[in-house]
Amino acid sequence: MTIGILALQGDVDEHLAALHRAGASATTVRTPSELHDVDALIVPGGESTTVMKLLHRFHLGEPIVSRVRAGMPLWGTCMGMIVVARDVAPHPQPSLRLLDVTVRRNAFGRQNDSAEIPLPIPALGPRPFPAVFIRAPWIERVGPDVALLAQRDGHGVMVRQGNVLGTSFHPELTEDLRAHRFFLDMVHRREDVGKQRSVA
Ligand code: GLN
Repeated sequence: MTIGILALQGDVDEHLAALHRAGASATTVRTPSELHDVDALIVPGGESTTVMKLLHRFHLGEPIVSRVRAGMPLWGTCMGMIVVARDVAPHPQPSLRLLDVTVRRNAFGRQNDSAEIPLPIPALGPRPFPAVFIRAPWIERVGPDVALLAQRDGHGVMVRQGNVLGTSFHPELTEDLRAHRFFLDMVHRREDVGKQRSVA
């Protein structure tokens, strides 16, 4: 099982290192054939308008959408969550529309350009998670099928809709591997379902 990290722009190496520390096999994805070879995809932080343009140029947008619709797990961190959100505020912009949420870009303001706060995330255990926010979006609408996993100051910052996970913050920038392990668990469970199906 190999996790791909979309490597068009952004903090790719940090995700690679975190996945390796968590004992997973991970590789970068820049082409449709590299996407074909991975079992799950992380879209890292970066700049969402730039990455949407690059996805188009590298012919990766459509294959990502069809893989995720077919069940491939995807995790968007910060910019990655903006890229997969259904709607983007305050200025609408193109996105892959795989996660039924509205995200507001740069919502936590300049004073929080790079804040690390202890964030309660019950799904990751009783200990708060050291969440790093860098010009981060918040989630201001969640669709009926979306589970809200964490909030900061009353605003959504971690959500899951089936095989799609989104975080406003950057778990790859801390030593805490629980968010990466949570995603790996989503991938393993999906693999198990696939195996059961092929046996049946
Ligand atoms: N502010 C960036 C955007 O809106 C996201 C920042 C990040 O990924 N750290 O695209």
